[in-house]
Amino acid sequence: MIVRTHAIPLTFTPVTESSRAVTWMTEDHGRLVTLIKGSQRPKSLFLGQYDLFYTCELLFYNRDRDGWLIARECNTLSARDRFRTDWRACLAASYLCDLVRTCVPHRTPAPELFQLLHRALEDLNTRGADLIHLLWFELALLQKLGLTPQFTACIECGTSMINQPGAHWVGARGGMVCRSCHQRSQEHGIPLPPDVVAALSHWQRATLPPPVSKIRMEETRQQTAAKALGIFLRMHLDSPLVSRRIAMRALLYRKKA
Ligand SMILES: [Zn+2]
Repeated sequence: MIVRTHAIPLTFTPVTESSRAVTWMTEDHGRLVTLIKGSQRPKSLFLGQYDLFYTCELLFYNRDRDGWLIARECNTLSARDRFRTDWRACLAASYLCDLVRTCVPHRTPAPELFQLLHRALEDLNTRGADLIHLLWFELALLQKLGLTPQFTACIECGTSMINQPGAHWVGARGGMVCRSCHQRSQEHGIPLPPDVVAALSHWQRATLPPPVSKIRMEETRQQTAAKALGIFLRMHLDSPLVSRRIAMRALLYRKKA
């Protein structure tokens, strides 16, 4: 049976001289791999119709043939030209796609995750890359995967974390501990200033990334927020993503470059 779905290419792997395996995040069938036969031949109908960070309409045979799903047709819906010239945006988009590839289960429908990635790539294409956008995406993705870090209350005693100096982030447990619980337990954690806690909590509730014009956060604070989320992500991924480190560095030190 041929099925039609919206899809974003995540990675390409050469299979033969002219054929490629493409990993997609699709709207209706989750993450999957299709074989595109002859896609590199000069007269292939697939040429120019798909590339990294595009959103496409993909038609494929939804039946394994020798272990492959075979792509039938592909048409570009959104090509997002910024990623060809803005290397920081390109690194940020690479990280988002890598994170989705790593976190989303194979062939499990997750339309909300497709929509999140589609939306985030549209935003990156329009506004360029900034660190807060990546952190917002990570929080939104974690939430949709059922992994929601706790920033609003102490995970030990329930005390509100609003304006609580001395609070610590315990990434292994995915939450904050207040000053007295931290002193009592001596649990390993990193100190998080109240304004960083408030920002993380705000971004976690935001359905859209904060507009660039409203971002007023020092770089060192952004770095602290990125570090805290990075610890949590590492707990839930098999290995740390190199693409995250590269994208974060490119965005954090942009003024010095
Ligand atoms: Zn407490």
